[in-house]
Amino acid sequence: MQQRLRDIPSPWPENRCGELLHSYERLDRTKQSEFMTLHQIDEKLEPIIADVLRRNPGEPEFHQAVYEVLESLGRVIAKHPDYADNALIERICEPERQIIFRVPWIDDAGKVQINRGFRVQFNSALGPYKGGIRFHPSVNVGIIKFLGFEQTFKNALTGMPIGGGKGGSDFNPRDRSDREIMRFCQSFMTELHRHIGEYVDVPAGDIGVGGREIGYMFGQFKRLTNRYEAGVLTGKGLSFGGSRARKEATGFGAVYFVERMLGRRKTGFEGKRAVVSGSGNVAVYTMEKIRAFGGKVLACSDSNGYVVDEGGIDLDLVKEIKEVRRQRIEEYARLKRNGVRYVENGSIWDVPCDVAMPSATQNELTGRDAGTLVRNGVIAVGEGANMPSTPDAVRIFQEAGVLFAPGKAANAGGVATSALEMQQNASRDSWTFEQTEERLAGIMHDIHDSCAETAEEYGAPENYVLGANITGFVRVAEAMRALGVI
Ligand code: NDP
Repeated sequence: MQQRLRDIPSPWPENRCGELLHSYERLDRTKQSEFMTLHQIDEKLEPIIADVLRRNPGEPEFHQAVYEVLESLGRVIAKHPDYADNALIERICEPERQIIFRVPWIDDAGKVQINRGFRVQFNSALGPYKGGIRFHPSVNVGIIKFLGFEQTFKNALTGMPIGGGKGGSDFNPRDRSDREIMRFCQSFMTELHRHIGEYVDVPAGDIGVGGREIGYMFGQFKRLTNRYEAGVLTGKGLSFGGSRARKEATGFGAVYFVERMLGRRKTGFEGKRAVVSGSGNVAVYTMEKIRAFGGKVLACSDSNGYVVDEGGIDLDLVKEIKEVRRQRIEEYARLKRNGVRYVENGSIWDVPCDVAMPSATQNELTGRDAGTLVRNGVIAVGEGANMPSTPDAVRIFQEAGVLFAPGKAANAGGVATSALEMQQNASRDSWTFEQTEERLAGIMHDIHDSCAETAEEYGAPENYVLGANITGFVRVAEAMRALGVI
């Protein structure tokens, strides 16, 4: 039987490179350099990776995220050696501030529960820290650091004045009543409010945190500070300062990016079969936009299993199950029956498709899955989630010539629209859906084009991983150099 996604113990499953990286410290000197040469790590960057591993033990997702960015930077250092001066890269790999706090709350049975809260303020060279809050039992400091690190480059790619941060808690919202969710959010904000602000740090949603949770957190912030500081949180409801199109932005943006990427090969979503993992915020609006561009979504999932509907996924039904009834995706098969298949615990990537859009969580698409997708003729992969493909999977796609859009570029539409929400709050204005979506589409096209141009400039056309990492890095690095050693 296949593993459930959430049971995968290591973020580098079935991956020799991952095992090696984790035992790097135990390798002798020759083997260490063999390893770095094999994996194209520039010798100037080698001690930085080694230091990140040593100073952040037990944080494999963070190691993986840093490794992936540093793997791209060898070419930049070769061209501009001064970027390695003044420990600039070491400083980029070290969060500016990490806050960990207790979140006590009382459940419906009157029992006191304790969770752990996190906010990692990673980099503020370009603007106030900005990044979502995740409520999921798997959350720990390493996961929040990986997300904050990725967020720094993603936010730079949007071209907007926002730094990188991320937060969350190991709280599991599943099966909790609305009142429990509210009490938890209030307790979480009771501590977090000291560390955030419109000009300091602006959180938003992520896994397990949607409009309802943002509403409860904003309410508590307002009550504690006696300030109606709308720009302190984004992803707010429309009735209290939210932006139109924010809810849709991450999914819509990812599809705009992939459509543009396909356009370079003179094709598009029209008539294509797509598979989208997850059935949360990002997945739902990814599916909606694929359909609008003329594609057909065959399958979606949650952490228990996936459904295949050869007639095309019925989005209204998914929204009803997930956003209103808050049930499992299995319900879809029960309610629809004809032509629908539910597979428990399987891999959604076994479903043949032209375009795959992983939109659930990190490391959900492994090397094995990538092999299956390639054999089944996939032509493009767009990451809606953060780091959903393992390093093995990315390599397999690239070697097979599959167009691959990494999350830090493809899913940047969410945070970009959050920055548009901040603009609307600051000017006490409210834009129409069409105005906001037009801005979003323009931003996604710009991100795509700058990644594509950078990849070409550095001799690796169509390598969007390289393009995104280098473009994001250069923007952050330029600002950090100007600000001195801080
Ligand atoms: P949601 O909570 O709305 O949905 C998450 C979906 O992924 C659910 O279907 C959930 O299934 C599934 N999922 C979550 N964790 C796991 C897991 N460990 N194993 C398997 N499936 C899992 O979150 P979002 O849609 O907001 O976020 C999805 C991804 O997109 C995340 O990687 C997030 O960081 C990223 N992202 C989100 C942005 C946003 O604006 N919301 C912006 C940029 C990136 P189940 O209900 O069974 O847990």
